[in-house]
Amino acid sequence: MKLVKHLANLGYGSRKEVAWMFREGRITDAQGEVLYADDQPAHDDVRVDGEPLDLPPGILLMLHKPTGYTCSTKDKGRIVYDLLPPRFRLRAPLLSTVGRLDRDTSGLLLMTDDGGLLHRIVSPKAHLPKRYEATLAQDLRGDEAELFASGTLMLEAENTPLAPATLEVRDARHASLVLTEGRYHQVRRMFAAVGNHVEALHRSAVGGLTLGDLPEGEWIALDDADRVRLF
Ligand code: URA
Repeated sequence: MKLVKHLANLGYGSRKEVAWMFREGRITDAQGEVLYADDQPAHDDVRVDGEPLDLPPGILLMLHKPTGYTCSTKDKGRIVYDLLPPRFRLRAPLLSTVGRLDRDTSGLLLMTDDGGLLHRIVSPKAHLPKRYEATLAQDLRGDEAELFASGTLMLEAENTPLAPATLEVRDARHASLVLTEGRYHQVRRMFAAVGNHVEALHRSAVGGLTLGDLPEGEWIALDDADRVRLF
């Protein structure tokens, strides 16, 4: 692959636009030597306007999603892609969210352009635990943990029971819930099934990954050690 195409795939512009960037002398090597488009095979020892190149394909990002953002690319309101550099939306392969969080849910959201990795994380067979912190409108009744753990709870309009889930009660209106599957609006529907209502929801962990001190609205690229912690 030519460097022009590589940079276009990373979202720096169309091939034509990237070719112009070469002509303008904006593409250099690490020593500041201007590179010329025509004779360059793809490599990553490149600076664009003096900045190192974005990560090559195969990236896994962890985003601290604030409430008020959707995981869709089509929504007219605020979307999680608005929290990333604009060119990240133009990357090929495309960067997708790994599963979804509702607009009103905050917390740990993974994004990747690696289809195989995405599948490994969301596959029901992976049983990857996801931890949610819920704030409830009503006091807990006391029987929810047993019911959620039973593997018998049916959600409305579904025909298979939910897999056992672990509820840890913090106080009458706060609880952590660990799920190993990801059905539509699952946490909210589980609490609705026991006559409650989720007022606020935050995902605090996926597998062995937590947000640590990553501020809301910020993201980081995960490395191999993080990937090991994930599974
Ligand atoms: N369950 C929900 O109800 N909402 C989310 O965003 C994630 C899990």
